[in-house]
Amino acid sequence: MDGTEVTHHRLAVNQGRDDARRSDQAMGRLAAELDETKSHLSQTRAQLRITLNSIRHGIMVLGHGGTVHLCNARAAELLQLPPRFTEGAFTIGDVTAILTTPDVMVSDSGDSATIHRDGGQVISIKLDSLDGGSKVLLVEDITLDRRREESLYLAESESRGLFENAVCGIYRDMPDGTPVRANRALVNFNGYDTEAEYRAAVNLNGGNWYVDPERTGVFQQLMATKGEVRDLISEVYSHRTRKKYWITENAWYVRDHAGNPVYVEGTIQDATERVLGLAEIERHANTDPLTGAASRFHFMNTLNAITRNINGACVLFTVDLDQFKEVNDMLGHGAGDAVLKTVAARLKSTAGASATVARLGGDEFAVLMSGTSATMQADIISAGIVRAMRQPIDVEGHNTVIGASVGVALFPAHAANSEELLNHADVALYHAKTNGKSKACIFDHAMKRRLQQRRALEEELREAIPADTLELFYQPIVETPTAKLHGFEALMRWNHPRRGFLPPSEFIGVAEDAGLMTELGNWAIRRACHQAAAMPAHITVAVNVSPSQFRSAGIVDQVKSALRDTGLEASRLTLELTENVLMSSETVAARVMERLIDLGVKMALDDFGTGYSSLSYLQRFAFAKVKIDRSFVAGLETKPANVAIIRAIIRLAGDLGMDVVAEGVETETQAELLRAEGCGFLQGFLFGKPMTYVDVAAGMAMESLRGHLPAKPGQVSMASEQKRAVHNGL
Ligand code: C2E
Ligand code: CA
Ligand code: CA
Repeated sequence: MDGTEVTHHRLAVNQGRDDARRSDQAMGRLAAELDETKSHLSQTRAQLRITLNSIRHGIMVLGHGGTVHLCNARAAELLQLPPRFTEGAFTIGDVTAILTTPDVMVSDSGDSATIHRDGGQVISIKLDSLDGGSKVLLVEDITLDRRREESLYLAESESRGLFENAVCGIYRDMPDGTPVRANRALVNFNGYDTEAEYRAAVNLNGGNWYVDPERTGVFQQLMATKGEVRDLISEVYSHRTRKKYWITENAWYVRDHAGNPVYVEGTIQDATERVLGLAEIERHANTDPLTGAASRFHFMNTLNAITRNINGACVLFTVDLDQFKEVNDMLGHGAGDAVLKTVAARLKSTAGASATVARLGGDEFAVLMSGTSATMQADIISAGIVRAMRQPIDVEGHNTVIGASVGVALFPAHAANSEELLNHADVALYHAKTNGKSKACIFDHAMKRRLQQRRALEEELREAIPADTLELFYQPIVETPTAKLHGFEALMRWNHPRRGFLPPSEFIGVAEDAGLMTELGNWAIRRACHQAAAMPAHITVAVNVSPSQFRSAGIVDQVKSALRDTGLEASRLTLELTENVLMSSETVAARVMERLIDLGVKMALDDFGTGYSSLSYLQRFAFAKVKIDRSFVAGLETKPANVAIIRAIIRLAGDLGMDVVAEGVETETQAELLRAEGCGFLQGFLFGKPMTYVDVAAGMAMESLRGHLPAKPGQVSMASEQKRAVHNGL
């Protein structure tokens, strides 16, 4: 090797050394770079991990075969992965396995799944593909979202339900009246089937909604000034049908944050029934719905207007139907109503258009005519009313005479004010009714005094039973031909504190009017049974029963308990009824009679011959006795017709197996004639006047002393016998 070579060699060696040095340096640099990159990477990784662990979502990155390369803390937490599950060492299959526990419900749909845990937690898992075939799972807790969604859904469906199903109309409009929403009630109310139809056709602010066009202005004015409308009542057209309705409206603005109205919302309620109801009530207040006559309310207003006027003058007629109760009881309320209508119409045509015809209640009417010419003709007018009322009324095909009594009072002649005028017309009416009915009476002050006395009497009579001032007198009934005492008729007397013993004619009418007759009559039955029970066993007692008493519900029980409590044998009691008891309701009367007869009591038809169809009642009702009225007996000597009638009655009664009692026998001749005709029993002053129980008891004592009563009728005057006996100290 030459020098050059050496040099070259050297050079080469040097060269070689340099190269190696250079390559070492590069390696070092590379390593450093690598280190740097490594640390950068791990730094990045750490940052990524921190980032991944801090986000709200769970994230898992899956490689081939489902190996989990990456799983952030949130994913592990949400999926409740055990600590042994470390990245790269478990698969998605392991995750699925731990999720199949009973408290977890997994529902799949394509690339997503939802996990419902007991306790309400809901977790959503979504799968996404990354480039290069790996996949990423996004895990989210959507419990709150779900809850919010649900309650929002509920709230919304609730208000939607309310909106759609509300019975009142609900709407939302633009402030210019363009409909935005309308519920079914409003759509239907306006005659449409769908909301779309409605929206297309309607603009509520349009003038043709309100029947009264002015109403639009009222509505708008309220909205403008108050910002709302509350319970506004208006009449409106249903939009399509043009049918009219009354509605109650409410409306308000919905405003934006700045307070500007964005919508008008409101409700609409059908108030037709309410509004028409009010109108109806008003009409009712002024008119009697049945007859169309003025109501008492309207009548009083009219009357007050006249009597408050200094120059006012009027005549008031109060009208009361005589036979209304009978028609109503007998033929029913339908017939009664028809009668009332006819009566109102007749009063109107009789009194003329200028008069006020009012129904004051029940079968009570009033006619009011103002002006002095009417007051001057009060008598003629009232007579006209009576005449009109006496015309038969067709009641269900029967011509029925109802008749009316009329009371008349003049203003200002008879009264100072409305109340007094009404009161005085009623006083006159009462007078008309108690003096034969079907007549008119004009008020006078004597009438009022009499009525006041009657009222006072009524008050005293109420006290009669508690004060024990009623008594029964007994009038003998004798048998023919022997004149042997058969029994007594019990006749009521009132031992009035100042006026002494009063006969029934003085107080029975008052008792009837005051509704006291049933009570008095029941007292009489009880007292008669009690006293008769103390008389010899062959003596009978007859008690009068008034129509109202007979019709009262308790009559059968009253008789039953009177018999039971006093021990009187039922066959010794006779109940006397007059024909008018039977008239009002034959079937009811027949039933009550049957039940009384079942008790063993005898029934007698009283005052026979004075009534209406007489003879037919004898056949239809099971009377044991007929009492011939004393008006037939009185004329017996002079009127051959009376003899013929009495003969016919006795014959008929005999055929029907009834006994006959002749009443009011005062003379020997009458007694002879009746005996000759075969009349079985006689009653009258000839045989004895009604006497007190004390007298009867004394007479009984006499009879038992003597063993018999005097044989000759003329001497049967028991009263005088007994009085003598009493006077003799027996
Ligand atoms: P009435 O049932 O027809 O009773 C007979 C009436 O004729 C009695 O009148 C009696 O005193 C009277 N009288 C009897 N014999 C004669 C006579 O020979 N000549 C005359 N002129 N009259 C005679 P009185 O006691 O005044 O009773 C009148 C009416 O009062 C009775 O008529 C009866 O309808 C009713 N009445 C009496 N007591 C009661 C009672 O307790 N209850 C009911 N509901 N009515 C009674
Ligand atoms: Ca009688
Ligand atoms: Ca009689």
